Amino acid sequence: ERIISSEANQFDEQFELSLRPQKLTQYIGQHKVKESLNIFIEAAKLRKESLDHVLLYGPPGLGKTTLATIISNEMDVNIRLTSGPAIERPGDLAAIVSSLEPGDVLFIDEIHRLPRAIEEVLYPAMEDFCLDIVVGKGPEARSIRLDLPPFTLVGATTRAGALSAPLRDRFGVLLRLDFYDEASLEEIVLRSSQLFDIEIDRLAAREIACRSRGTPRIANRLLKRVRDYAQVIGDGSISHTLANQALELLQVDPRGLDHVDHKLLVSMIERFRGGPVGLDTIAASIGEERLTIEDVYEPYLMQMGFIQRTPRGRIATKLAYDHFGYTYPEQT
Ligand code: ADP
Repeated sequence: ERIISSEANQFDEQFELSLRPQKLTQYIGQHKVKESLNIFIEAAKLRKESLDHVLLYGPPGLGKTTLATIISNEMDVNIRLTSGPAIERPGDLAAIVSSLEPGDVLFIDEIHRLPRAIEEVLYPAMEDFCLDIVVGKGPEARSIRLDLPPFTLVGATTRAGALSAPLRDRFGVLLRLDFYDEASLEEIVLRSSQLFDIEIDRLAAREIACRSRGTPRIANRLLKRVRDYAQVIGDGSISHTLANQALELLQVDPRGLDHVDHKLLVSMIERFRGGPVGLDTIAASIGEERLTIEDVYEPYLMQMGFIQRTPRGRIATKLAYDHFGYTYPEQT
């Protein structure tokens, strides 16, 4: 388990639940998303209607589940949480949607992983609030139509491109979450510290923010580990120096890179003169799967400008050379 992984692990769950903002005003950053959502929510309330279906997309750990919960709180309705892979048969979906109260929010995480057959049951449910289900078998089989209460589907996905067009078109509101800037992450660290009664310097909060890869989930996880360190080594309060020591021990560097990122970039620089080098070659040289590099390691390194993708392979940028103290070979 990498401490800087943006996917939730088994230790995050309890901690995250207690930190989750409940209202839109407590949700830090993502100003554009908040602004549009606020307008849609207010308008739906004025018309006394359920909110349009909302699709949230962006990398893991940026607050999609949190926003879904906030939507239900702001609309003053219940929320049902499920995920694409958890709905296996049309009957599973039917059971869920038929138990909703008018206006409720149904949250489907990883909605791009819904089986195709379920998607087709979902279309009339989203559009006309009804379900067509087939009962019986063979010549006896017939389709019956079930009316549903109006509800709001909130779908979340890390890959909007993986969603089928007919499903995507049925969402009235599409919102993209971006990586957070350092100021917002600092605010998130300060907020979490307050909720957990942790004494922390602003500079220490900034230090954790810088190393969190633009992701609130990672910021909160690092805070938790730094707190452990402060309690064991110090008096429990987190100063800038202590935060630096703890983060060094956790092997998360000032730009949020860990030993795996180091291995990858240093190998590109030392063995392949910074590239261009093919993904398979990199994978073989550091003993990792090609897919893991592509899906897990590379996105943040690209986002930060350490790696660039070219038609001839990956290259390590000047930024990467500088970061590790290598002299950048100027192009002649
Ligand atoms: P996702 O569903 O996108 O993977 P989550 O909604 O589970 O992400 O968010 C992970 C954690 O990060 C939450 O528990 C929450 O405490 C925190 N978080 C996310 N976004 C924000 C935000 N804008 N402000 C404060 N905390 C946030």
